[in-house]
Amino acid sequence: MKIGIIGAGASGLMAAVCASRLGALVTIFEKNDKPGKKLLSTGNGRCNYTNLLMNSDCYNASSRAFVEEALSIFDENDAVGFFKDIGMLSKNKNGYMYPLSEQANTVLDVLAMECRYNNVNIKKNIKIDNISQKGSGFIVKYDDKKDYFDKIIIACGGMAAPKTGSDGGGYEFARQFGHTIVKPVPALVQLRCSDKFFKDLSGVRCESRVSFYINDRCVGSEQGEVQFTDYGLSGIPVFQYSGRLARALQSGEKCKAVIDFMPESTKDEVVLMLNKRHKASQDKTAMELMIGLFNWNINKVLLKRAGISADKKASSLNSRDISGIAYYIKEFDAQITADNGFDRAQVTSGGVDISEVSASTMESTLCRGVYFAGEILDVDGRCGGYNLQWAWTSGYIAGRAAAND
Ligand SMILES: Cc1cc2nc3c(=O)[nH]c(=O)nc-3n(C[C@H](O)[C@H](O)[C@H](O)COP(=O)(O)OP(=O)(O)OC[C@H]3O[C@@H](n4cnc5c(N)ncnc54)[C@H](O)[C@@H]3O)c2cc1C
Repeated sequence: MKIGIIGAGASGLMAAVCASRLGALVTIFEKNDKPGKKLLSTGNGRCNYTNLLMNSDCYNASSRAFVEEALSIFDENDAVGFFKDIGMLSKNKNGYMYPLSEQANTVLDVLAMECRYNNVNIKKNIKIDNISQKGSGFIVKYDDKKDYFDKIIIACGGMAAPKTGSDGGGYEFARQFGHTIVKPVPALVQLRCSDKFFKDLSGVRCESRVSFYINDRCVGSEQGEVQFTDYGLSGIPVFQYSGRLARALQSGEKCKAVIDFMPESTKDEVVLMLNKRHKASQDKTAMELMIGLFNWNINKVLLKRAGISADKKASSLNSRDISGIAYYIKEFDAQITADNGFDRAQVTSGGVDISEVSASTMESTLCRGVYFAGEILDVDGRCGGYNLQWAWTSGYIAGRAAAND
C-alpha cells in the first residue's frame, strides 16, 4: 500500500507514523524546508500538546457526534501514551500537558525519529499543486515529477499563521474532490475594538470575567487574564470566543465584550465597597479614591467613562457618581469591530465540511481513497492543547484507516 500525505505538520506526521507502522509505504510532501514548523511555535515554544480535561464541548464543530466518535478512538490519554511509547515524557500542569523538556522541539524530534525508524520518506521543499485520480489511486504532481499512490491523506492545515506553511491551499484539493468548505475564519485570535480608551489601557493585564454578545444576545462568558492592547482585547478568555465572534462579524452582526472587573462581587457589593471608601476619602481626589482597586490605567479609564475628572474632590461625588463607577467596574463594554486576521490567529475555524467525512476513518464519503487530518477539517478547539489533540486524533485515525483498507 502506497500512501501519499500532503503536509508534514502535526497531523501529517501522526498519520505517517500510524500508517507506516501498519506496513504502508509512506511519503510525506512538505513545502517548507523542514517538517513541523508550526509545531515549534506552539505553547510559546513549549507545546501544550493535549489536555486531560477533554470532551467534545471543547470543540467547535457542526457535529458533536463526529468529534465524540473520533475522540473515542484516540483521546488525550492515548496521546500521552503514544508520546511516552516513542520516548517523550510529559509534564502535567493542571491537566495541560507539555513535554517534560518544555521544548516543542522534543515533540517534533520524537515524531521525526519515529518516522525515520518506520522508513517514512519526508520530501521537503516540495509544494504539491495537483492531485489527480488514476484508476483507484492518485497521481501527485510536483516540479516535473509525478508519483502514484493508492491513498492520499490531505493534512495541509488551515489558514492560521500562514508563515508556517498553511495558507489554505489544501481547501482546493478538497474542492477538487467535491467537498464543501465551510468559510474559514480566524480563531484563537485577538479582537479589535473601536473605543478610544484602549490607547490608555495598552499593556494592562487584569483578571476578570468577559461576556460576549452578538446582536445584544449574550453567547457566553469566560474568566481569566484579559490583556488590553492599543487596538483592543487579547488573552485566553478573549481567544476562546474569538472564532465565534469573527464569524458573526463576517456576517455583519454586531459584537461586543462586557468586562466584569470584580466577578466575585455583585453590583450591590461593589456599590457598598465604593460607598465605604468614599466616606473614608473625603479629603482625597476621585483618583485617590480609586487607588488600590485596579491597575492605575484601569482606574483612570473607569473614572473617565463614569464622566468624573480624576482630580475632582471625592467629597463632591454624589451617589450617581458612585453607581456610575460601580456600573463600569461590573459592565465595562467594548464594541468589537474586527478580528486580528489569520496572520495573528492560532487556528482556523471552518474548513472541510465534516458531514462529508467519516469520523471512524477520516475518509472522504465523496471520493474513496482520500482522507483528511488536522486543522483542514471544520473542527477547532479551545485554547489549551485541544487543537493539537485534534491533529493527533484525526492523524491517527486517517493514517491507520488508509493503511488498513
Ligand atoms: C503560535 C501558535 C501557537 C499554538 N499553540 C498551540 C498549543 O500550544 N496547543 C495546541 O493544541 N495548539 C496550538 N496551536 C494550534 C496547532 O498548532 C494547530 O492546530 C496544529 O499544528 C495543526 O496541525 P495540522 O497538521 O493540521 O496543520 P499544520 O501544522 O499547519 O501543518 C500543515 C503542513 O502542511 C504543509 N503544506 C500545506 N500545503 C502544502 C502543499 N500544497 N504541499 C506541501 N505541503 C503543504 C504546510 O507547510 C504545513 O507544514 C498553535 C498555533 C499557533 C499558530
